[in-house]
Amino acid sequence: MDRMAGEKILIVEDNPGNMELATDLLEVAGYLVVQAMTAEAGIEAARAQLPDLILLDEGLPGMDGVSAAASLKNDPLTSGIPIVMVTAHAMKGNRERALSAGCIDHITKPINTRTFASTIAGLILNPCPS
Ligand code: MN
Repeated sequence: MDRMAGEKILIVEDNPGNMELATDLLEVAGYLVVQAMTAEAGIEAARAQLPDLILLDEGLPGMDGVSAAASLKNDPLTSGIPIVMVTAHAMKGNRERALSAGCIDHITKPINTRTFASTIAGLILNPCPS
């Protein structure tokens, strides 16, 4: 998958190390990254910035990623933005929870640094995988 330079991606992630890694990988691939460290800040940033895709950590302080996804999907301003849930555990049910909250896909941490950017590129090109 070739890079899709210039598209804007909002990362909602409370762990600074995870935020830095994901940001670096996406910026190297040519994306413009917007960062938010809480669900509330992420929702605000999504409304203000209208990113092409949102990477949403499931485990956040206060409002969690599942509630944030539902809120984004309920808002006509942000409901069309594809959301990818990022979860810390490969537990059964995470994917189902993410999809039922309106997310298009689910990525498990630790992210695969070699495939992360191309995975995101693929999801932007085809946000409705069968
Ligand atoms: Mn977290």
